[in-house]
Amino acid sequence: MTKQKDVAVELKSKVYDKVNSCIQCGYCLPACPTYKSMETESASPRGRINLVKMAAEGKIDITEDLKKPIDLCLGCRACEVACPVDVPYGSILEDAKEMIKKKEDENKKKPDMKDWLLNSFFTNSKFLRLSSNLFYLYQETGLQKMTRKVKLPEKILGNIGKMEKALPNMPSHKYRIKKGQLYKAKTPDTKLTVSLFLGCINDSLLYKINYYSLELLRLAGCDVYIPKNQGCCGALHAHQGYMDTAKQLASDNVNAFKAHDVQYIVTNAGGCGAILKEYDHFLVDKTDADSKSKVETFTSKIKDIAEVLYELDTLTFLKNINKVVTYQPSCHLKNVQKVDEIPEKLIMGIPGVNYVELPDKDSCCASGGVYNVVNYEESMKILSDKFQGVNYVQPDIIVTSNPGCLLQMSHGVNEFSNSKQTQSIHLVELLAEACNLEI
Ligand code: SF4
Ligand code: SF4
Repeated sequence: MTKQKDVAVELKSKVYDKVNSCIQCGYCLPACPTYKSMETESASPRGRINLVKMAAEGKIDITEDLKKPIDLCLGCRACEVACPVDVPYGSILEDAKEMIKKKEDENKKKPDMKDWLLNSFFTNSKFLRLSSNLFYLYQETGLQKMTRKVKLPEKILGNIGKMEKALPNMPSHKYRIKKGQLYKAKTPDTKLTVSLFLGCINDSLLYKINYYSLELLRLAGCDVYIPKNQGCCGALHAHQGYMDTAKQLASDNVNAFKAHDVQYIVTNAGGCGAILKEYDHFLVDKTDADSKSKVETFTSKIKDIAEVLYELDTLTFLKNINKVVTYQPSCHLKNVQKVDEIPEKLIMGIPGVNYVELPDKDSCCASGGVYNVVNYEESMKILSDKFQGVNYVQPDIIVTSNPGCLLQMSHGVNEFSNSKQTQSIHLVELLAEACNLEI
């Protein structure tokens, strides 16, 4: 048996029942941003499911024919919400990515840059923090201003270099949260005991978001544990087919949070929360009751910060935000975690805010983890459509609930907005400003 057939057989054993649950109705097509943008069946959920099925049956080649349509999927999972028979598209996508990578690895002589980034860089929180310290120096010393003046990032990295402008200024390192600590509630009595999941991007480049999350939770009455050995959630890895690394990260996180008896494990990134809630899909040995119960205890405690703050309803707003505000949902927060209207309700509860709904808000911004880096042209086509809605609303602030969406919408402001003054920020930044939390 050839290696191609081996991988196809493994793919079939993983996905065949799942792909066969698709009844080909096509209800998912209008919900799919890549189908709307590319207008071909192979860029639709139904088309991709059929291609995975054909690859599993050995009728098409996994790398030659399947890889490109799968790589062009954003993984936004809007198709799952639209599907009347609950086809588990996210799981099919994950399996296909894993098998494509397995097939590519067979022809690889040595690890490449992507292997290093995903297996060594994003798995090492000390490395990430060190890199962000260097980026802080790059900003603080004025080097960033100089390189931007002569458009050096664009000259070296092309279109990707333009995205450097989307990175916000980093505050002092004293605002980076110390791991292994308990931070007490700032209210007379403790209303909840929670842990905070720090993630990788929010722990390195965007630690302002983690700082505000922690302080808002404390102001709302939470004692907050920050488990020491937590790391990256593994979403980037699982979505790129690096399942062994994703499983290791998942296992490490489950063990890191197990030590603290808390009501909730709070996340502030839609993408991280989604995979944390789904750890049982790929971590649990179905025959091992102990590991099943350990992982299910972990996943059942995952809550987005918007849900926790809304449930507590104890924040006191001290400042009016007299601005036009709109909201771009995180696909994984909405489609996977099923947190839909709560962020908007929190925004509307801030005094002075003029909330205007973004047209077609439920359509993905095309950040998609590293999709906007790997598939820049396709991502920008979808983002420019999104900004037709933004330019109609003319907001002062676009609120997001995931670091990737935040950076993508900032990039969209630079590239497609009629007003370069529009800010793209995380929900916790807006709430923090209304609570007079200063950095
Ligand atoms: S995950 Fe998103 S981009 Fe991919 S097929 Fe589904 S709707 Fe389309
Ligand atoms: S909506 Fe569901 S069943 Fe219908 S084509 Fe899409 S994935 Fe298949």
